[in-house]
Amino acid sequence: MQCQRCQREITEEESFLHLGQTLCEDCYLDIRQPVKACDPWAVYLAGRSRDSVGAVGTEGLTELQKAICEFVQGRGKVTAEELTAHFGLSGTELQSQVAVLRHCELLRGQKEADKVYIVPFR
Ligand SMILES: [Zn+2]
Repeated sequence: MQCQRCQREITEEESFLHLGQTLCEDCYLDIRQPVKACDPWAVYLAGRSRDSVGAVGTEGLTELQKAICEFVQGRGKVTAEELTAHFGLSGTELQSQVAVLRHCELLRGQKEADKVYIVPFR
């Protein structure tokens, strides 16, 4: 059988059923445990996998993630609304992109008064 998400060949013992879809363990865990911002374990894993492919800085990111990084660095600080408007993303899409960039310690959230800004990590 095949994982319906990543198309990997899996045995029946390796398969998980989620909302009517047959998934491999990786995809199942991926769906069941969405990456949360500020999760130290995810930060560790993100850092480790980037190290293992020799990625530095923004290498290893998608074009969109790089563009978001550059946009935030150029502005100094932006709100999520500015990012969704600029990149034409939905709030959910933006959140998942920003979560990755936070894990890679390129961006972070900064609270000022009653607003949360996205700012460069350093
Ligand atoms: Zn899979």
